[in-house]
Amino acid sequence: MDKIVALSKRRGLIFPASEIYGGIANTYDYGHYGVLLKRNVVDAWWDAMLQERDDVVALDSAIIQHPKTWEASGHLAGFTDPLVDCKTCKRRFRADHLDEARADADAHPDVRCGRRPSRLPGETDECELTEPRAFNLMFETSVGPVKDTGSTVFLRPETAQGIFLDFKTVLTFARRRPPFGIAQVGKSFRNEITPGNFIFRTLEFEQMEMEFFVPPEQAADWYAHWKQARMDWYAELGIRPDHLRLRDHDPDELSHYSSGTADVEYLFPMGWSELEGIANRGDFDLTAHAAASGKDLEVVEPDGRRYVPHVIEPAAGVGRSLLAFLADAYDEEAVEGESRTVLKLHPRLSPVKVAVLPLVRKDGQPELAREIHATLKRRMQAEYDEGGSIGKRYRRQDEIGTPWCVTIDHETLQDRTVTVRDRDTLAQERVAIDALPELLSARLAA
Ligand code: ATP
Repeated sequence: MDKIVALSKRRGLIFPASEIYGGIANTYDYGHYGVLLKRNVVDAWWDAMLQERDDVVALDSAIIQHPKTWEASGHLAGFTDPLVDCKTCKRRFRADHLDEARADADAHPDVRCGRRPSRLPGETDECELTEPRAFNLMFETSVGPVKDTGSTVFLRPETAQGIFLDFKTVLTFARRRPPFGIAQVGKSFRNEITPGNFIFRTLEFEQMEMEFFVPPEQAADWYAHWKQARMDWYAELGIRPDHLRLRDHDPDELSHYSSGTADVEYLFPMGWSELEGIANRGDFDLTAHAAASGKDLEVVEPDGRRYVPHVIEPAAGVGRSLLAFLADAYDEEAVEGESRTVLKLHPRLSPVKVAVLPLVRKDGQPELAREIHATLKRRMQAEYDEGGSIGKRYRRQDEIGTPWCVTIDHETLQDRTVTVRDRDTLAQERVAIDALPELLSARLAA
């Protein structure tokens, strides 16, 4: 994990937020390449939801919803973690996330507790854990100039509830009937206590959630469908099959409303951990909001049959997926006696698709390279780089996962061909400038 953190910082993908003030726990900023990578992850998700199917529609609901939302959803009463304090080192942990805390403590000796640091607080001679107490994870704030109980609102801890509140509206204007889904991507906020393992667990994070509404008798089949579809998505984007698994929750792990939940898990550097949860939520949410709002949230079929749809929910985290893609792509290899670090990202996810590099900064090479760059830019994220030796420039692109480098040399000026270097095989081929846009577009779409 430390290598991924270091690379992310070195290349400006992801770095601690508020760094000039010493940082703020579990909070990160995304730099240029991080933004591009994140956008590609989100785009791939939207494509899988919207472009590759025709039974899902999009939504972008508000972060601050009516406070009754969280009463009805059960978050106000039940969205809590069992919290334990270490009386010696004063750190706090989620009682159900002690394994994560252990991994983090092992990775950061400077913040370990006690004199026997590789153990958890509570396992040391000096440390003593308190009994768990319930701690609500929602961030509270207030609306308006006067802070009183009537003005209290919450930053959403998940995007899903906004979808349930808008269900009837979407049903009407999207002219849909179950089975159909509503998808959204947006920020959620949780007052997380367990140290974060980089961007695995942060205070604010983006979620990609989809609520799929179905007639009750179809729920089991659609649950199976979505479990498979979501596993396929990660695999198609290059996650190694032996690093990915689907884990069905034991009956005692299930939320009270869920008749089935499975986690897509990835073998992160700190061990198998959740990437995404897929839940069969029954009619719990719509029934709860109908009761609390007094609104009818039933579906009426043309034959007059009325029912509250059941819901299948695949809920993924953008940052966690991105971390899995980074971890899976990270590689160090020896090339011609030198070692290189390379991100073997799926080209769809790569922040930059092609780098255009003049071999030397003279003889008309930079001018021609800029022309080629301008042409390629119309089709894909392309970068021009003339600074430093060609070897250094290749390494830079390898580290951000650029699948192709196009080099302009003295031959290019004579025969209008360039060298295309493949990031993974390091194969170099000579290609006509005119054929380049088509060739790279085709490889990107493959
Ligand atoms: P965990 O058990 O790890 O806290 P969860 O089961 O509470 O996760 P869900 O409520 O199912 O998570 O949220 C769906 C997805 O949102 C998670 O699988 C994860 O990818 C992402 N997610 C949830 N909490 C966080 C967080 N604090 N930071 C980053 N991503 C998160």
